Amino acid sequence: MTAPLVIAVDGPAAAGKGTLARRLAAALGLPYLDTGLLYRAVGRRVLDAGANPRDPAAAEAAARALRPEDLERSDLRGPPADAAASAVAAIPGVRAALLDFQRDFGRRHGAVLDGRDIGTVVFPDAPVKLFVTASPAARAERRWKEMRGKGLDAGLGQVAADLAARDAQDAARATAPLKPAGDAVLFDTTALDIEAAFAAAMDLVRGRLETSAP
Ligand code: C5P
Repeated sequence: MTAPLVIAVDGPAAAGKGTLARRLAAALGLPYLDTGLLYRAVGRRVLDAGANPRDPAAAEAAARALRPEDLERSDLRGPPADAAASAVAAIPGVRAALLDFQRDFGRRHGAVLDGRDIGTVVFPDAPVKLFVTASPAARAERRWKEMRGKGLDAGLGQVAADLAARDAQDAARATAPLKPAGDAVLFDTTALDIEAAFAAAMDLVRGRLETSAP
């Protein structure tokens, strides 16, 4: 029996990986998991408890208590949730507590998962791994437009600074840092709109599947 297909989509914040991963999943008939939501929901739980997201004991307890309905909350986006997510994500006990859920999700029916460590840690044997990037300026502008669309009025400079700080923290942590897997395909979306990015990603996926077929 062949293992269900898992596609890993990693990359820095606001690179377009969520949109791409969701489109790939729909096109391939696979479930989709935004793993960033798990860390966001843990961060929110810690904030709700009045604790510090950098406190390992509080963050680990929040990760172990996570419930599916926590992922449905409407306050998982925006600067406070971004910062809390990145803080709890640096704590090894939090990552360990979330690992089985991600692996079970992918193994059940196959899946497209997006995050920071899907190709390096969660599914190191995934046959298809994309590392999606875009220039810092393009990512900041996308996130800024997205925020304005939601009525959040942050300056472009502030958005760029927040993204840079979060990426630096995600890349510098000791456990499961943000980095491409050795066998990931680097995919730069700076000059691509979503349709072009999706078409190019589908080509990559097909190519990878053909070369990894037994
Ligand atoms: O992808 P998103 O920006 O929603 O992720 C929020 C934060 O969660 C990231 O900045 C990162 O710190 C953390 N994260 C992670 N590993 C993942 C997904 C997200 O560390 N697989």
